[in-house]
Amino acid sequence: LVRFERVNKWFGQQHVLRDVDFTVQPGERVVLCGPSGSGKSTLLRCVNRLEPFQEGRLTVDGVVFDAGRREDERALQALRRRVGMVFQQFNLFPHLTVLENLALGSEMAGEPRAQVRERALAQLQRVRVAEQAHKYPLQLSGGQQQRVAIARALVQAPRLLLFDEPTSALDPEMVQEVLDVMRALADQGQAMLCVTHEMGFARAVADRVVFMDEGQIVETAPAREFFEAPRRARTRAFLQRVL
Ligand code: ATP
Ligand code: MG
Repeated sequence: LVRFERVNKWFGQQHVLRDVDFTVQPGERVVLCGPSGSGKSTLLRCVNRLEPFQEGRLTVDGVVFDAGRREDERALQALRRRVGMVFQQFNLFPHLTVLENLALGSEMAGEPRAQVRERALAQLQRVRVAEQAHKYPLQLSGGQQQRVAIARALVQAPRLLLFDEPTSALDPEMVQEVLDVMRALADQGQAMLCVTHEMGFARAVADRVVFMDEGQIVETAPAREFFEAPRRARTRAFLQRVL
């Protein structure tokens, strides 16, 4: 579903992705962790092409992107429909209702209104906020807003969902309701690549955990092995700090 091949990226002089080789298989649930500034968000943003890179090749759902080549705008649009993204800060439009936030993309693509509405409501039900459909985002709790953001990503039936620290901006009592929704999606076979510091979630839900440090992938292992028998010293040091 996703394949990085020797991807390198720089921000100016700073080398932020170093020879990244990495895959996500269809249906796989992968958690990406690592210290602040290690390049996790950058890696995620490369997947749906919010960031360019300078060396290597990235394949997403069969679409190949080579470094430096200008890509076809249509291929890019199609890709973004198949890859949904959920951010730390929800990124909902405050002047649109919940339902309008979900419907926006599909209506712009010309889909009939009633059909969009029905699909949007189905996704709101799936994340258990259907009763909030006609409210505005700021009238909801943080946990509800994040579940709306997840529903919005689901409306396009993405092959892959990207999460960038989806619970980091939430009050502690709302973290679990969002993790529960993510876990339910995982159980339904939704492929996901998730940056999170919630190691309990990683242990329970991830097929594989990837540890990144200073732009490099240091270790990747099945979740159980990752937590019980990490091979690299840097991984062990990280786990000691976060567990
Ligand atoms: P965190 O856990 O704090 O979110 P991260 O692992 O997601 O960190 P990135 O946001 O990917 O890290 O950043 C990797 C490096 O790239 C950091 O040193 C950061 O300062 C730098 N960086 C990120 N975005 C930009 C940008 N737009 N311009 C310049 N440098 C950037
Ligand atoms: Mg980040």
